[in-house]
Amino acid sequence: MLTIKDLHVYYGGIHAIKGISIEVPDGAIVTLIGANGAGKSSTLRAIAGLIKQKSGTIIFNGEDISRLSPEKIVERGIVLVPEGRRIFPNLTVMENLMLGAYLRSDDEGIKKDLEWVFNLFPRLKERVWQRGGTLSGGEQQMLALGRALMGSPHLVMMDEPSLGLAPILVKEVFDIIKEINAQGKTILLVEQNAFAALNIAHYAYVLEVGEVVLEGPGGELIRNPQVREAYLGV
Ligand code: ATP
Repeated sequence: MLTIKDLHVYYGGIHAIKGISIEVPDGAIVTLIGANGAGKSSTLRAIAGLIKQKSGTIIFNGEDISRLSPEKIVERGIVLVPEGRRIFPNLTVMENLMLGAYLRSDDEGIKKDLEWVFNLFPRLKERVWQRGGTLSGGEQQMLALGRALMGSPHLVMMDEPSLGLAPILVKEVFDIIKEINAQGKTILLVEQNAFAALNIAHYAYVLEVGEVVLEGPGGELIRNPQVREAYLGV
């Protein structure tokens, strides 16, 4: 579904991504793990069209999307849930969710997806009229995810969805990611929580200073001694 070949990203003179190649098959959960500054967020931002200074090819469903605008990329069915739950604090939960569907005109589909999101996140349903900014951190993360799903994406990219959440909510977020995947969405997940990410991922890439240094099925990397020492603290 998504094939990235030899991606390079620059920030001015800084060469942040140095020729990464990544494959995200249809229906899979793929994760990128690695230390701070390894280039995980930059990879997601490059796919989403938010970074201009880049080279390489990004093919999505057979089409080269590497030169498309962020809006066109969303239209193609790729959505990014950015780090830090960027919801609109002054809008209600419902308004935030509906903004996720702003490119759609299929009212029936929107209604169905709204029901689906409320099923996934019953807490959002109880709070539809509450302002986003007054939600707890975990609820804001759910809202950010829910808003992304309202765009009816094929590929959902998530940047650190478990960041800053209490352990019990971390488990909930990973359970929900699995559920979203089971409902047919392909997932590209960036996580610091390497153990939880590898646990749910069909395939994983380990990034170090802008390069892929290791890759394999999630279950395999969890047992890899190098990964265990560097990223799982065992
Ligand atoms: P983190 O988990 O800390 O976000 P990451 O793996 O997602 O790390 P990136 O945020 O992609 O890493 O950063 C990769 C490299 O690019 C780092 O060296 C970082 O300092 C640099 N970088 C990222 N954003 C910018 C920017 N806007 N301007 C300059 N350098 C940047």
